[in-house]
Amino acid sequence: MDFELSEQQRMVRDMVREFAAEQLRPGAGARDESGEFPHEIFKELGGLGLLGMLVPEELGGAGMDALSYIFAIEEIARGDASVAVGVSVTNSVCQWPILHFGSDELKRRVLPALARGEELGGIMLTEPEAGSDLGSLRTSYRRDGDRFLLNGAKAWITNAGVARRFVVLATRDAKLGAKGVSAFVLDAEQPGVHVHQPEKKMGLRSSKTSMVTLEDAVVPAGDLLGEEGQGFRIALATLDHSRIGIAAQSLGIGQAAMDEALRYAKERVQFGKPIIDHQAIGFRLADMNTELEAARWLTYRAAWLSEQGVRTTRSSAEAKLLASETANRIVALAVQVHGGYGYSREYAVERLYREARVTTIYEGTSEVQRMVIARALKELATTAPA
Ligand SMILES: Cc1cc2nc3c(=O)[nH]c(=O)nc-3n(C[C@H](O)[C@H](O)[C@H](O)COP(=O)(O)OP(=O)(O)OC[C@H]3O[C@@H](n4cnc5c(N)ncnc54)[C@H](O)[C@@H]3O)c2cc1C
Repeated sequence: MDFELSEQQRMVRDMVREFAAEQLRPGAGARDESGEFPHEIFKELGGLGLLGMLVPEELGGAGMDALSYIFAIEEIARGDASVAVGVSVTNSVCQWPILHFGSDELKRRVLPALARGEELGGIMLTEPEAGSDLGSLRTSYRRDGDRFLLNGAKAWITNAGVARRFVVLATRDAKLGAKGVSAFVLDAEQPGVHVHQPEKKMGLRSSKTSMVTLEDAVVPAGDLLGEEGQGFRIALATLDHSRIGIAAQSLGIGQAAMDEALRYAKERVQFGKPIIDHQAIGFRLADMNTELEAARWLTYRAAWLSEQGVRTTRSSAEAKLLASETANRIVALAVQVHGGYGYSREYAVERLYREARVTTIYEGTSEVQRMVIARALKELATTAPA
């Protein structure tokens, strides 16, 4: 067993940590207030290779390994979780399935601009009536010569209005169930794609999330991922990969809250001494840090397994479940450590408390992660490590 990072992994982590501390954290509160999408920051991220981390260099990407990617998302989220979600969806739920299931021609045509950050990406799975139960999706497609036409409504789409390419799931016939579902790469810059007003969210306020309706939205036949009928399988494989990224985002939010709580506990004096020296606060910080470390190493292990080419369905779900639930406990305790000041917008923990909330909801709620884990356990004779 080797916990050492490679030279490249250490370089990526240190570079992104410095960038996040200098360029992301200082403005995160102001961006939360304004709700403006930070186009300039995304340009800088593109220049650093952080918008095409998993794409090979010959297709314009940075060609990083899965662990480097996870370190980068964690550090970006530690600086600004709103930026991290935009980076995560571009890299993972958009570029990853194109890279693994797209034709060579599609990859050469769409990946370089995405990987260089000239265009952003996203995914359209959720619908108003199909969230956790993705199998009940209703967005339809039909073949029309050398193209497909898509119709329906997609809900809660991150990067809608700012991204150009979206992976979209649609069904040929809802009666066919999962077998009828295909995955497409949609160019959002066309008349058949209507982006609604951004949702008024609790947190991640500078990330744009909207309902999108598709009215005869055109997808060229070559922009189908895999084969017709494979869409569900492609979505599940993508989520196996991308949930590790949401676990990393949760770690970053948890670490930011830990940083704030520790700093405050050393500075704030009550009953004649810094509150960290009151055992109740010291022990609370000890528990918070221990839980965060446990979630961190489960997440890194899932990323390492993914890098070995192992199918990580259960490991990804376990990492996402533990990291997101831990982040939510840590932000709540960090507010408590701040007392009344934790309830003020003047202090970062108030924002972190709101930002952590969504991590147990998107890319599969905690209940869905438990369903995935329980299903995998049913297949096992023992859970003892191999
Ligand atoms: C900020 C944000 C960004 C998002 N970005 C995207 C995006 O880019 N693309 C995209 O496609 N989607 C996106 N989503 C959607 C997100 O993935 C869904 O909200 C999520 O999957 C849950 O679906 P739902 O909201 O319809 O809840 P529902 O599925 O209606 O669930 C409601 C509650 O019921 C529980 N539940 C449901 N079924 C069961 C069951 N069988 N057993 C036990 N409990 C159950 C759930 O866990 C939850 O607590 C985003 C959501 C948010 C909030």
